Amino acid sequence: MPRKSRVVGPATDSDGMRTTAYRALEALACAHCGGAIAPDALFSRRARRTPVRAMGATGITGGTTTEPLCIACRPLRLDSAGSGDAD
Ligand SMILES: [Zn+2]
Repeated sequence: MPRKSRVVGPATDSDGMRTTAYRALEALACAHCGGAIAPDALFSRRARRTPVRAMGATGITGGTTTEPLCIACRPLRLDSAGSGDAD
């Protein structure tokens, strides 16, 4: 299963909520605005409940999944340790 992103580390969003910052490994689409999240761009994810549906072919039983959110929709501030790494 190819990875589409990797965890960068803990971050704080514009509401002061703790979240996790990710870095895209390939182009993704923001689940909120539909905008592109370019490879190597920072973004966050939100949990979303998936509805229970009788989709026998795929066996979806409902649960939670995560959707990417671009930093325009959810600005992030990395909780970095201040190592001086500009990137
Ligand atoms: Zn967005």
